[in-house]
Amino acid sequence: MTKKILAFVLSLVMGFTLFAQDKNVAEDGENLKIYDSGEAYQVKTFTQKFKSRKPKNIIFFIGDGMGVSQVHAALTANKGRLFIENLKYTGFSKTSSADNYITDSAAGGTALSSGVKTYNGAIGLDKDKNRVKTILEIAEEKGMATGLVSTSAITHATPASFIAHQSNRNMYEEIAADFLKTDIDVFIGGGYKHFTNRKDGRNLAGELKEKGYTVEKDLNIIANIKSGKLAGFVAEEHPGRLNERGNFLPVAVSTAINILSDNKRGFFLMVEGSQIDWGGHASNTDYIVEDMLDMDKSIGKALEFAAKDGKTLIVLTADHETGGMAVLNGSFETGMVKGEFTTGGHTGVMVPIFAYGPGAEEFIGIMENIEINEKMKKLLPGR
Ligand code: MG
Ligand code: ZN
Repeated sequence: MTKKILAFVLSLVMGFTLFAQDKNVAEDGENLKIYDSGEAYQVKTFTQKFKSRKPKNIIFFIGDGMGVSQVHAALTANKGRLFIENLKYTGFSKTSSADNYITDSAAGGTALSSGVKTYNGAIGLDKDKNRVKTILEIAEEKGMATGLVSTSAITHATPASFIAHQSNRNMYEEIAADFLKTDIDVFIGGGYKHFTNRKDGRNLAGELKEKGYTVEKDLNIIANIKSGKLAGFVAEEHPGRLNERGNFLPVAVSTAINILSDNKRGFFLMVEGSQIDWGGHASNTDYIVEDMLDMDKSIGKALEFAAKDGKTLIVLTADHETGGMAVLNGSFETGMVKGEFTTGGHTGVMVPIFAYGPGAEEFIGIMENIEINEKMKKLLPGR
């Protein structure tokens, strides 16, 4: 009898403890689902008149995990305007991988970099593990300047898909070594430790310097580099969240464009807003909006160059959507936006495509992710 009472009291206490914990989690979770900074930036409208029919330069933005809700959340947060709206040609991309209805960022990145559907986890390899040529490598062969900018480690799946060939996305040290096999002109992101603190004892930062690269960790110095080859590392692993990394992405994009545009034959630059995906995994509206707006401002930097240049194509898309995000409430007056999430993972839903500049009209309608790559390859200038 006393045992039964004891068990009953115990279960009551445990139940209350569990209930209290649940309540805390729910409350924190609710806070994270609302973005409400009140701040907004000015958005410019750029010319839609260009100087050529085919582009000389291509700037390819990938919002990792960016679905329509992520874009709309950012649009609401900035009180109804985004730089992205200058990219007037729009479409949708079907993102499934060779072995899965729902892609990961490695297969998604490889589809966008190389025009092949592959297995989840693959970097620059097809589904039979054959090496595939990336658009960055083709641009290099054509004598164009090339660059990668990312708010994650530069060895992380998305940027890696454009320059490395490895059977698994987690092979960061092998991916770092692949950078040395190329002639990439500029890369800026995190991931310094994968170049310097390695099992094989190689110091790839030293090897990069021998190949003529400026290897620099200070963003203020990186911002003032105007020519030559540049390897910019702002973090050992991943750059921090916005409050830590500051204006890293817009600065890195401007720096990369500045250096690459010296090349008479044009350039190819891939820019990734990496952490939109991480906000989605965390069911965190605040994180998503912060990183969407950061990428939008960077697109503003690219638009400033492209509008003046008149021969630059800008394409923005995503590798997949993350979080199954919906926008449940918002205000264009205050910039408040409330998100809700159906999963902590990726979803299989189509993602948007936006394009600006010569050739932009190619990117309308519903297409496979690999077609985005095929269209960009067809538009590459030169030999
Ligand atoms: Mg990524
Ligand atoms: Zn993800």
